[in-house]
Amino acid sequence: MNILLFGCRGQVGWELQRSLAVLGQVTALDFDSADHCGDFSNPAGVADTVRTLRPDVIVNAAAHTAVDKAESEPELARTLNATTPGALAEEAARLGATFVHYSTDYVFDGSGERPWDESDTPAPLSVYGRTKLQGEQLIAQSGAQHLILRTSWVYAARGGNFAKTMLRLAQERERLTVIDDQWGAPTGAELLADVTAHAIRHVRRQPQDAGLYHVAAAGETTWYSYAKYVISHASKSQKAIKIIANEVAPVATSAFPTPAARPLNSRLNTRKLQATMGLVLPPWHAGVSRMLTEIL
Ligand code: NDP
Repeated sequence: MNILLFGCRGQVGWELQRSLAVLGQVTALDFDSADHCGDFSNPAGVADTVRTLRPDVIVNAAAHTAVDKAESEPELARTLNATTPGALAEEAARLGATFVHYSTDYVFDGSGERPWDESDTPAPLSVYGRTKLQGEQLIAQSGAQHLILRTSWVYAARGGNFAKTMLRLAQERERLTVIDDQWGAPTGAELLADVTAHAIRHVRRQPQDAGLYHVAAAGETTWYSYAKYVISHASKSQKAIKIIANEVAPVATSAFPTPAARPLNSRLNTRKLQATMGLVLPPWHAGVSRMLTEIL
């Protein structure tokens, strides 16, 4: 199987280079790749890459993920998150290739407390959420066999993320305030990459199972409880990290005004994925502990 991976240096893209390798030959590109265009600001260029390489599977881990910045550059966000994925999906349809794409809990408005199902109506609050939803719609309309994996609160040992920011701040400041009214599940890029490899194998054999899935680690937490978990893990680590923060205080989202509104309820119901693909999604803290052990 020939696999073409876009966005290979991002959190998920990096882990995909490892997990996709067991499925076949992987060509991994990022926006500045020399041999083939992997720049998502150039939809025609990446479409041309697909026509040249003729992969069996295209995996798209590239995106405009700077949620606040997207508010001031909506056109670029639309190109990266919607127009180019749509163009790639059309090429996949022409080739008969499988197209794999990631989307987000930010397609929902965050109301209520029930985990969102795939059949729930999206109502994004931000440019990022709206452009990611447009990407989903263009892919679905393309007629390509596709997997759209909606996930939440992604972290990885490589790259910046919330857990690393909390660790740094806890070593610099005496007091931290962290949002405690947004709910979700921190999801490891490693887990997403492994699930992706299984899901590709599954839908290549059972094409009727292609489509939209929610993928997140099991359980739920708030950013506040997640921060406390990270700091407590670091304090107990063998390499004595000097944590200065003796107080972590919960605050409401309204205490941290940001250009982009965030959903309060980012819980994703993952039953469809687990039942269809025969997979088990482990509890969120198992992956976070593993990542902390790796970076500390
Ligand atoms: P990252 O931001 O880590 O990775 C995105 C990748 O896209 C990076 O390699 C980035 O390169 C690349 N990129 C940026 N601009 C361009 C461009 N013009 N052309 C090609 N590539 C470009 O994101 P994640 O790995 O965390 O996200 C993977 C997917 O998961 C995305 O679809 C995202 O929307 C989705 N997702 C992420 C969540 C999260 O919490 N991070 C939550 C829910 C969904 P560079 O780093 O050099 O800019």
